[in-house]
Amino acid sequence: MKTHAKERNRMGNLGPSKGNVTVYGGGVAGLTVAHELITRGYAVTLIEPTLAPDRFGQSHVRVGGMAASQMNDVDPHHHVHDSVGTPASDDPPRPKSKLGPVWLAADDDSDKGHSVGACHQPGSAALTASDKQALSDLVPKLGEDYTLGITGMVHIGRDNIYDASQGRILARQRAGSVAAFLVEQGLDRTKLSLRGANVDPLRCDDTLGSWTTTQSVTLPGEHGYRYFPSFYRHVFDTMGRTPLYDSDGMLSARTVYDNLESSLSVTVARKHHDPILFSMVPPTNIQEMRESLIATLASTGATGLDLLLISLRMLRYLSTCSARREALYENVSLLDFLQARHPDRPGPDVVYSPSFLDYLETAPRILAAIDPATGDARTNANIAVQLMQPDNGTRINGTLNGPTSTAWFDPWVEHLDALRVRFLGGKLTQMTVVDGKLHVELELEANPKVDPERFEPVTETSPCGETVITHYIDHADYIVTAFDAATAERLSAELPDVGVPEKLRGYAEARVPPPPEWSGKVEVPEQGWRRFQTMSGIQYFFRETVDIATGHVYFSDSDWGLSSISEQQFWAAEPNLNTNGYASLISVDIGDFETPSAHLGKPARECTAEEIAKETWRQILEVIDPAPQLQLPVPTWYHLDDNLAFAGDAGEGLFQGNATPLQVPLAGDWHRRPGGDPFDPVAVDGPADSPPDLPQGVWQSPMGGYYVHWDRLLYAGTWKKTFTRITTMEAANESGRHVVNAILAHTHEIRGHGAFEGEPPIPVDHSAPKHTDPVEREQTGKSVGRSALNTGVSGIIGQNPVGAFCRIWNPEQHEMASFVPLKELDAMLFEQGLPHLFDVLMLETTAQAWSQLGLRPFAATPNIQDLQRWTAEAVKWQQSATAAMGLAGTPAIHDALIHALRSLRGMLEQFLAPMTPTTPTTPTNDSSEAST
Ligand SMILES: Cc1cc2nc3c(=O)[nH]c(=O)nc-3n(C[C@H](O)[C@H](O)[C@H](O)COP(=O)(O)OP(=O)(O)OC[C@H]3O[C@@H](n4cnc5c(N)ncnc54)[C@H](O)[C@@H]3O)c2cc1C
Repeated sequence: MKTHAKERNRMGNLGPSKGNVTVYGGGVAGLTVAHELITRGYAVTLIEPTLAPDRFGQSHVRVGGMAASQMNDVDPHHHVHDSVGTPASDDPPRPKSKLGPVWLAADDDSDKGHSVGACHQPGSAALTASDKQALSDLVPKLGEDYTLGITGMVHIGRDNIYDASQGRILARQRAGSVAAFLVEQGLDRTKLSLRGANVDPLRCDDTLGSWTTTQSVTLPGEHGYRYFPSFYRHVFDTMGRTPLYDSDGMLSARTVYDNLESSLSVTVARKHHDPILFSMVPPTNIQEMRESLIATLASTGATGLDLLLISLRMLRYLSTCSARREALYENVSLLDFLQARHPDRPGPDVVYSPSFLDYLETAPRILAAIDPATGDARTNANIAVQLMQPDNGTRINGTLNGPTSTAWFDPWVEHLDALRVRFLGGKLTQMTVVDGKLHVELELEANPKVDPERFEPVTETSPCGETVITHYIDHADYIVTAFDAATAERLSAELPDVGVPEKLRGYAEARVPPPPEWSGKVEVPEQGWRRFQTMSGIQYFFRETVDIATGHVYFSDSDWGLSSISEQQFWAAEPNLNTNGYASLISVDIGDFETPSAHLGKPARECTAEEIAKETWRQILEVIDPAPQLQLPVPTWYHLDDNLAFAGDAGEGLFQGNATPLQVPLAGDWHRRPGGDPFDPVAVDGPADSPPDLPQGVWQSPMGGYYVHWDRLLYAGTWKKTFTRITTMEAANESGRHVVNAILAHTHEIRGHGAFEGEPPIPVDHSAPKHTDPVEREQTGKSVGRSALNTGVSGIIGQNPVGAFCRIWNPEQHEMASFVPLKELDAMLFEQGLPHLFDVLMLETTAQAWSQLGLRPFAATPNIQDLQRWTAEAVKWQQSATAAMGLAGTPAIHDALIHALRSLRGMLEQFLAPMTPTTPTTPTNDSSEAST
């Protein structure tokens, strides 16, 4: 049976809540916290400062944070051709004017018929005084013999209405209001005909008498395009639990997850080269994975030796346990890892061909805005592994089927609203600790009705004797801040130096020094690297349909690290020139604001908005225009991320700053992230620890996880430590879940389940089994079972009497199953201080020597008796690989390498079975990457 959302709203609270929580910040992290807590019985209020009119014109909080769509109205006559390309029109820009609520056309198509266009009045279907005046003036002009067509309209974009049927209902209501008024004025009901239609902006420019209205066009801008790679798990889980309501407010069978579309191919465009198209249909086994990897790499100008070298590096990574990754790969850059650089040696151990090295240096910068020369190897390689592997049935390279807010955030809010999350406009203004207690102040928009025991108003008397509320004090049981790092830092400045606040000191502005073992390959600026960098988005809108390529396009050698997507390809309702004012759009991410453009001689951060728009477009044309089939029309408008600030009253000056910079995962910086490590509640084993030794004012569950400060305050956000690691919506969602898990643990252990209903706390049994970190599980060999490790399917999900913990997916526990035995073996070796298996077998030594000196016969002579059988197999494997090097043509190399890989796997499987943790007693230790 369908449940009516509003009906459920009227039902009120069915039971006492487990506690009051205020979530500050309506980005992905804040919304996730609200979602997970409300479904666990907490009373949640979400407070967000950004306001925007909703479809009824009422000011509402605009959620989504930096990922929210940025709707912008433009004058349809004001083209910016001259801003981005060849001038196509000499028309001077016209001042922007808005659509009037009622506009009247002189005549209908028929001789005696007349028509009224009744555009939806934001806020209600009711008529304004000026509407009524306009209609009253119309009545005498109609004469005796008339018919009148009344067309109700809504402006799809501006009113945030995306669903056409919903638009039609509102349009009909609007037409009905006009008809009712005209009947009151004495018109004959039978001569009126009503129609509901969605507004057609470019045909609204119509006149009757002195009324002239000009329709504006609403451009759905974004701060950058939304990319949901198939390895996302937290976001997909949330989307799958966010139902879509139909236009009557009824639950439909669909969820937001159904609003994701797969983008099945990626095009890499390079100057003076034909674009290369890659299929993103994921491989289903290791063989396919290797073929796809090799095909991808081969088209980048890689040599056979490059392929062998990079495959070995990635195989090494895939077979490295989490503990060793933490010890070795957080403090080196991806490029240093791929080149096997060592601080004690001048050159790299792995020498790639120049063209392939060039590819390695640029590709990740564009794909994930990470500079592989400075970004940490563990984060980068984890992402690379996830991108390479089968997708477990989720959306491939997902992208939304409409603007982000329409396709995701609006339905999310609707659902949370139905679950009784309260959304308020406002902001947290101050946090202090007084007598060991947290004191939180906030401001609320428009003095809403709130429970004064929960939000205590602080008043003062104005000079004219009025009592005014200056601010409120928040008495919620838990305070969750889910804002960006800079805001978190600013608002935590007055808190004592413990836990997250301590590490936040200077965090957003600080420059990051290189890790001690830095190879020195990349020069470090005197002040260190910037932890927060600018990456931003620009959209180009066209009156023509423009599809550069199906799916994403990476302009791999563009100076500003550009990538793009023709969004309308994936939209459920494609934009249409007649109804939307534009027919297509290209959304571009500018990944690099620091590197100068060769053409302009300066980086994006030294440009005006218009220069950025022009230059970005020029760089795109530079890469793709020479192709005869890719002659692009000139864009009509552009929209540059509203979060970028430019000097001058009208923003016409130089770039001043970015309100939403992106945290980049720099080598050696991970341990500086504020707050506790995340924990994964999927499996339970091991004895309980005594509670961690933390400073006063900071609490952490013995299981680990995020901190609770002064028993009330928690921090969420994409800048916190997550298993996802990279700054994404997936990390924001995951961090929200860690906050919820910490609240669940804290409610249970400190406040006690039932404490909020006046019941005594349930004593916590500290001798009960605790959750162990998966890394620890690997090290101790206490396996939770391979299926659990690799699929996330487990019969045991952490739980306490307050409720089940949120599911957490650690990507390192969801890598290809074939590598689990190798990782387990590595965990044993690492625990005993032994080198990685590849070092023991010297699997890379020969290939590395080839890379440095040119091809030469294989001659590895491991000298450890215990390892002789292994090395014999390794030699076989190396010989197959050597043979592969001599083969001409990619298929032959594929076959030989796959064969080589198979024999490597066979060999490892053979010796894995009888293996015990103490077997490799005397390994070689001659590699730069041997265990520390
Ligand atoms: C150009 C670009 C493209 C990107 N593309 C992708 C992509 O394709 N895929 C992907 O997964 N990720 C992408 N990201 C990253 C992703 O958008 C962010 O990591 C994520 O949206 C951050 O979410 P958040 O909730 O942590 O923070 P935010 O979105 O920053 O939310 C913080 C919220 O707190 C509010 N706030 C601020 N001050 C206060 C206060 N005093 N009181 C109350 N509230 C306050 C803010 O208004 C805001 O709504 C991209 C980022 C950039 C810059």
